[in-house]
Amino acid sequence: MMTQTDLLIIGAGPAGCSAAIYAVRAGIKTVIAGGSVPGGQLLQTSEIENYAGFVNPVGGYEIMDAMHKQCKRLGVEFTPDEVEKIEGEHTPFTVTCKGGKIYQATSVIIATGAKARWLGLAEEEKFKGHGLSACATCDGFFMRGKEVCVVGGGNTAFEDALFLSQFCPKVSIIHRREGFRADQVTVDQVKKNPKIQLVLNSVPEKIIGTDKVEGVQVKNVKTGESTVIPCAGLFVAIGAVPQTDFLKNSLVALADNGLVLADERTHTTIEGIFAAGDCTDKYYRQAIIAAGSGAKAGIEAAAFINKNR
Ligand SMILES: Cc1cc2nc3c(=O)[nH]c(=O)nc-3n(C[C@H](O)[C@H](O)[C@H](O)COP(=O)(O)OP(=O)(O)OC[C@H]3O[C@@H](n4cnc5c(N)ncnc54)[C@H](O)[C@@H]3O)c2cc1C
Repeated sequence: MMTQTDLLIIGAGPAGCSAAIYAVRAGIKTVIAGGSVPGGQLLQTSEIENYAGFVNPVGGYEIMDAMHKQCKRLGVEFTPDEVEKIEGEHTPFTVTCKGGKIYQATSVIIATGAKARWLGLAEEEKFKGHGLSACATCDGFFMRGKEVCVVGGGNTAFEDALFLSQFCPKVSIIHRREGFRADQVTVDQVKKNPKIQLVLNSVPEKIIGTDKVEGVQVKNVKTGESTVIPCAGLFVAIGAVPQTDFLKNSLVALADNGLVLADERTHTTIEGIFAAGDCTDKYYRQAIIAAGSGAKAGIEAAAFINKNR
């Protein structure tokens, strides 16, 4: 059976919820298909200190629970469906979910987020949120006055190290090669910073600590020698994977890195399909930015639907 709706939003994180709030308040029948983790990445963190409007740190669950309740109060419908494919060159679009449920929607917003890439070490799960983080912008401030390590050799790792050096006495960048993918200007800034040391040709092999991170054991890939770098924080900056695999056979264009290609008004390459949040964001990947771009997508989708009723 096919379910009709004006707008189908794929993803129930900050981008999807914010898009829904704007659309439903513009009189649009809105359904959010939230997938296996309705609430998104913020559910993985217990302390958020940089989302405007909260005096004290707030839990990720609390923020997302409030967003979902706000959506429901306004009339947004939630389903736990996980979308498998979007079909159609123009409106209306056919959206098929795992389990076979099918939606026909005048417009679609893709807000499926991204997943941090981790190192694959056995102890990782235990230390996430206890000194191990994939987001220096989010968690760096909790490390003020402490020694930290950053893993990676691209712009994110180098910019994270510069950011952390503002309030951490020592920052070690652990990188598996001698060459970097980061811009030369940023590399030069890092090299000039007396608080940052480069640990090259090295890979983390073990996180040390009882309840929280106390150090990281690294192996030099040239000599085979292992050493321990004491640190209270270990920031993994080796990229994020956009959750866009389900779009690979659709007409919505993706960049080489898997991000959905969307313009500054959230329009994708298919008229009537919009994209917002981390699945489009190469640079920021922050909840407030995802929510802001979701709001844009909600406004744009509402305008599109009103034109095509
Ligand atoms: C540990 C951690 C700590 C963080 N701390 C902060 C912080 O302090 N401050 C901050 O601003 N940001 C923080 N972030 C980043 C923030 O969580 C993200 O920027 C934000 O959640 C992105 O929102 P989004 O809606 O784009 O995507 P997400 O939050 O990733 O939500 C995506 C949604 O899409 C759904 N989905 C995916 N694929 C499908 C599919 N095929 N069908 C249906 N649904 C699907 C998922 O289930 C999920 O509901 C943190 C992230 C992590 C991992």
